[in-house]
Amino acid sequence: MTRTPQVVVIGGGQAGLAAGYHLRRLGLGFVILDAGAAPGGAWQHMWDSLHLFSPAAYSSLPGRLMPARTGERYPGAGHVVDYLAHYEKHYDLPVRHGVRVHAVRRDADRLLVESDSGTWRAGAVISATGTWSRPFLPAVPGRSTFAGRQLRTVNYRRPADFAGQRVVVVGGGNSGAQIAADLALDGRVEVTWATQRPPRFLADDIDGRALFDAATARRRALDAGRSDTGGVASLGDIVAVPSVRAARDAQLLTAKPMFAQLTPTGVRWADGSQSDVDAVIWCTGFRPALAHLAPLNLRGPRGHIPTDGTRALGEPQLHLLGYGDWTGAASATLIGVGRPARDAAAQIAHALSS
Ligand code: FAD
Repeated sequence: MTRTPQVVVIGGGQAGLAAGYHLRRLGLGFVILDAGAAPGGAWQHMWDSLHLFSPAAYSSLPGRLMPARTGERYPGAGHVVDYLAHYEKHYDLPVRHGVRVHAVRRDADRLLVESDSGTWRAGAVISATGTWSRPFLPAVPGRSTFAGRQLRTVNYRRPADFAGQRVVVVGGGNSGAQIAADLALDGRVEVTWATQRPPRFLADDIDGRALFDAATARRRALDAGRSDTGGVASLGDIVAVPSVRAARDAQLLTAKPMFAQLTPTGVRWADGSQSDVDAVIWCTGFRPALAHLAPLNLRGPRGHIPTDGTRALGEPQLHLLGYGDWTGAASATLIGVGRPARDAAAQIAHALSS
């Protein structure tokens, strides 16, 4: 059986929910298909100690402030999951959990959305599938020869899993810094932090609020034809959240330049010295999860789909939401996704009515 809502949203994380909020406000008929069995998107799968880099009030989706919790300056991932679950329920958003979309195809003047629970035929599709399911691994010589454990950011949970072990954490971004700090502060793990270039810490008083402001200022400058402010990247890479600051101040968070190769028993550094290692944790970024859009043949350079705002240039009935700045300033953040979600819903409403 083929169902025919006006709009199908693929992905029920924060981006999909923000889209649902605005589609509902505009009175459009829609369904949100989410592969996850429960609400919360990627936040359900983060490591135990992860906290947001902004206070609750600066981490809210449209319409509903994230409540602050006593004693928690920066909310933990569990708090975000509760907030998203409550958001979904409060607005009675039609999310179908446990439904994975495997293909989107054009079918005359509609888009066909094929899933493991049947097919939908819609006038517009918003893809909001995030990046969590596509962690990126760099090509490093010897990777397949290493006999120890290799994990990605998405598999890391807690230091206790590495008690008594020698661990190399790879990656100079927030995930690498936070996981290295988590392991180092625990005291039971011998941790080495390896980064491609020297880590760039943001000033201690800068948190997600300043990052959001910088991203917005950059977007405004570019939109107005002024010169690029550099945005978030101009400030640094790593937010000094409390755990990172504590580890850094205790001299436990000193990065080594990236190793040259993996060996069967560990790593070989650029100066030729070697270290035996039990596990390597790759915190080397993510790519957008876009495999379901492959039949539309829209891929541009770097694996992104070229867009004008959120609308795919090659497929006007398709919008992309979340993922990264290329779908809107700060659109891969809680507070930042509201605006591109609103714009996408407005454009879809306009297109469907004309
Ligand atoms: P996701 O949360 O990944 O949701 C996508 C949903 O789509 C998932 O439920 C998934 O199951 C589903 N899905 C995927 N593929 C399919 C498919 N084919 N069919 C159906 N469903 C599918 N942002 C902040 O604002 N503040 C922070 O402090 C912050 N810290 C972060 C820390 C880390 C370590 C990371 C990785 C990110 C952080 N972010 C932060 C960024 C951002 O908020 C998250 O990445 C967020 O999860 C992105 O939301 P999303 O809805 O785009 O994607």
